[in-house]
Amino acid sequence: MPNYPYVAVVLDQSLQKPLDYAVPTELQTAVQVGMRVEVPLRKETVKATIVSLKTASSIPNIKPLVKLLGSTSELSEPLWKLAHWMAAYYASPMQKVLKCFIPPSLRKEVKEQKQWLYSLAISKEKAIELIGPLRSQNPLYAQILESLLQSPKKGADLRDELNISNSPMQTLVKRKWIGKSAVASTDLEQEEFFPSKPKTLNDEQKAALGDIAQSLHSDRFSAHLIQGVTGSGKTEVYLQAMAETLSLGKSAILLVPEVALTSQTIERLKARFQDKIAIWHHKRSLGERSTAWDMLKTGKSQIVIGARSAIFCPVQNVGLIIVDEEHDSSYKQSEEMPCYHGRDVAVMRAYIENAVILLGSATPSLESRRNADIGKYKLNKLLARASSALMPKVQIIDMQRAFEINGGFTHFSPELIDALKLRLEKGEQALLFLNRRGFHRLQMCPACQHTIKCPHCDLSLTYHKNANELKCHLCSFQQLPLSKCPQCGASESMQFRGFGTEHVERSLHALLPGIRTLRMDRDTTTKKESHEELYKQFRSHKADVLIGTQMIAKGFHFPSATLVGILNPDSALNIPDFRSAEQVFQLITQVAGRSGRSELAGEVILQTFLPKHPVINLAAEQDYEAFYAKELSERKLFSYPPFCHLIKITCLGPDPIKTEEAANHLRTQIEQHLPQDTQILPVSAAGHPKIKDSYRFQFVIKTIKIKLLEQILVNLSSPLPFRIDVDPTSTFF
Ligand code: ADP
Ligand code: ZN
Repeated sequence: MPNYPYVAVVLDQSLQKPLDYAVPTELQTAVQVGMRVEVPLRKETVKATIVSLKTASSIPNIKPLVKLLGSTSELSEPLWKLAHWMAAYYASPMQKVLKCFIPPSLRKEVKEQKQWLYSLAISKEKAIELIGPLRSQNPLYAQILESLLQSPKKGADLRDELNISNSPMQTLVKRKWIGKSAVASTDLEQEEFFPSKPKTLNDEQKAALGDIAQSLHSDRFSAHLIQGVTGSGKTEVYLQAMAETLSLGKSAILLVPEVALTSQTIERLKARFQDKIAIWHHKRSLGERSTAWDMLKTGKSQIVIGARSAIFCPVQNVGLIIVDEEHDSSYKQSEEMPCYHGRDVAVMRAYIENAVILLGSATPSLESRRNADIGKYKLNKLLARASSALMPKVQIIDMQRAFEINGGFTHFSPELIDALKLRLEKGEQALLFLNRRGFHRLQMCPACQHTIKCPHCDLSLTYHKNANELKCHLCSFQQLPLSKCPQCGASESMQFRGFGTEHVERSLHALLPGIRTLRMDRDTTTKKESHEELYKQFRSHKADVLIGTQMIAKGFHFPSATLVGILNPDSALNIPDFRSAEQVFQLITQVAGRSGRSELAGEVILQTFLPKHPVINLAAEQDYEAFYAKELSERKLFSYPPFCHLIKITCLGPDPIKTEEAANHLRTQIEQHLPQDTQILPVSAAGHPKIKDSYRFQFVIKTIKIKLLEQILVNLSSPLPFRIDVDPTSTFF
């Protein structure tokens, strides 16, 4: 055994470069890269992770580390390689990358304690009144109240969300501003499920599974893409591929989009694999996550299901990694470095682990589908729905006509109203999709056209009628609606413009009295279990119509939903972003796919002011191939991914002029060393030019070879904070 008298460690709490420590003699053969340790820092003892083992150190008076936490490394060799790849590819300091691999459940001391539910003990009005002055006097208290104003929360979730200890919460309890009550754990992991048997696969499914099984047996990296229409039985193929993986003594990782991580999905897995499954979910408490982590690390669980961060779980002997709905933008971390894409990290992890990567989607991203076309991925198509269900019929409705017939704006075309009435008569259900929550999009002054904006963000405030508040959808700011214009002082009544899901719900009740509705959007699902609750209520037919934002687009299966109304998909097409068309196409296909998933035939009504728009038409025809061909040729023409890589660099600061300057300064540093086949676009304000009092200026680099830029990006310097986003999902926001 070699001896290592020194180690370099990254501290949990800071984002500095690694620090050197000496290793006490008795530990010199025990230290490993990736081990957790305690080290002295000034007068304290803090936790850290070993990032390298050293035989020498140039630090004078070097201090010894205090102790090792645990006897093994938290990062297996493949995960360690993955971390290095991420640091290089995403141009992110290792300290930040390690935050992904060493999650909060490992950083903190977690003991599974009694769970408390905290809620406000004072009125909402009183809380809002208190929050104002608290923001400057004691911001922590203000944050706690703000968070509880949204909904009651479990102590663990609150501590996690705000990164606080118990003590400020206890103080507020003593002041009687908030209260706490004990809660029973409603953990799916403890629930039992009826076992389910594998289904007999149809020919298309069989072919896909056959190809995957062959790769699994070869013990080599290989990549597969399943392009299967909604309801074609992709999940059944995943389940059987996972069973095959387990039978080879290996483990599997299943990534799903955040909103699809529902009990329905988990039930399906549990029914097949029972207690072999660990669930990785940011809404679970640190204790629950810590248990899941240990189960995977010790090999007691061979399967993990989770959203994007599950790709960092210490799964042993990985044989198969599945990324469901691989096109979904929630796999991308955009707000914080490393700005990684969970799907791409998954492909890389599979490569490092000699495992099989399986991507699945009804509407593959252009990148993945092209990878299949150029032979990097093996493509299997599932063209028919698996059960007897047929693909739904999609009808495009010109809303300009509906506007004329109605003599003004309406949410509901005559066709949609008839279709809704028919469902009510037959006792079937309908889904209505609108991509905006709230009641009115904004409040404005009719005299001077001034719109009420968030004081902290460059965005108009949305009116929420149930709460009677104007809310910012970018930060948590809220205020009462105004009766007088703050700009011109006109006392004519202020007007509201634009509509959201709350408005749709009210209008529907006015139109069809007695109709039973449920609404699923960020406002109705702030509580941990509310998403589940709404889903169960709708599934057990407690309502006729479910109105929702994209939350209802994914993962759900409602057997008696036979109608989907898509109210207005147009606005997204106006966003000046290279991915707009792709995202609208994907969203329409996903939403439409919720209809008619069982014996009952499905119908989709697509309302639009752009009935001739090619994307709307191709989506209505559910013609992925035509869409793909058209979009690909445009991307090629204008040189966008998959024909190049993009890197977006965003500079953030409290002053707009200085922020723009800093962005230009960064741009100059790159321009001076610009490699071949690389183009750098001018600096511009971001799509959301200001969020939480911070201005954003950005520029985009287009390059054929990211590797050539790695060194330049790592060495960038700026007086203001900045973010490097490699392969961004948007060049606008
Ligand atoms: P996807 O994941 O592609 O949307 P699912 O796997 O959810 O599709 O399948 C849709 C429905 O068809 C589910 O109810 C599933 O149980 C059923 N199903 C899948 N494969 C088969 C099969 N081979 N035979 C019968 N039913 C199937
Ligand atoms: Zn705001």
